[in-house]
Amino acid sequence: MTPEDIYDIELISKGPLNIFKIYENFQACMYLVCGQEKKCLTDTAFGFGDLAAITGQLSPLPVTVVNTHGHIDHVLGNHYFDKAYIHPADRELYKEVADNFANIAEDAKNDETFGALIGDNDFSSVKFPSADDIGDGDVIDLGGKVLRVIGMPGHTEGSIMLIDEDEKICFSGDSILEHPWLFLEESQPLETYLDSLRRASDILKNSGIERIYSGHYSYKPLTLEDLDKLICGVEDVIAGKLEGKPFTNHAGSGLEYEIGEFSILCPEGTGAEGRISV
Ligand SMILES: [Zn+2]
Ligand SMILES: [Zn+2]
Repeated sequence: MTPEDIYDIELISKGPLNIFKIYENFQACMYLVCGQEKKCLTDTAFGFGDLAAITGQLSPLPVTVVNTHGHIDHVLGNHYFDKAYIHPADRELYKEVADNFANIAEDAKNDETFGALIGDNDFSSVKFPSADDIGDGDVIDLGGKVLRVIGMPGHTEGSIMLIDEDEKICFSGDSILEHPWLFLEESQPLETYLDSLRRASDILKNSGIERIYSGHYSYKPLTLEDLDKLICGVEDVIAGKLEGKPFTNHAGSGLEYEIGEFSILCPEGTGAEGRISV
């Protein structure tokens, strides 16, 4: 298995300061934003291939790694780097992955899909990097390019997004996407997520953002119109106007609310289901 089999790399903003979308075997998306002095890698997916080498080929600049949140499909590839940044509220999730890295890597070798990707790589001596704090209002200065951090409690408490005002792009992680997951143990109440979305909508509109690239399913970027649809959908779920369909997947179960081609995955007892009829 070569990096070409694992990664689908697309130039989503052309130079002099390039931005690349790096799609990992149809699982998770990372983004490499180049400045004049540094580059920023947003998320590291599962890290099936050598991300330090791959990002090094795309740009020789020193790298700053930022995780949009602490889930394994966004941080596991951090081990190719010396340091990363994460919101302190997701530090526990990060620590879980960091502490169990050797076992996770060993288990993955026996997995039907992942085993072939990992091959015989020996991860036993790998040191998972520590992560420094990053949060709402922080700025990542890449030299001639600045990325702004927006706190987005919802999917997880420590979820963040990054915006590039020059290129009018938002990197939304798992906060704004086609099928947001709010049913996880670490997810915040739907009302908290709604507050985050409304605040983000104001910021993105004021910044003139045109493209929203998420951590998954990024066949095409989302727009501010899509964000508005998502906000209306969450409002309707909270108001009990929509009927949820029970679902179960590898991460748990709950109710899925369809909103056009999008859907919101909520815990049981959300919306109309959670109302007490008298
Ligand atoms: Zn996630
Ligand atoms: Zn994810």
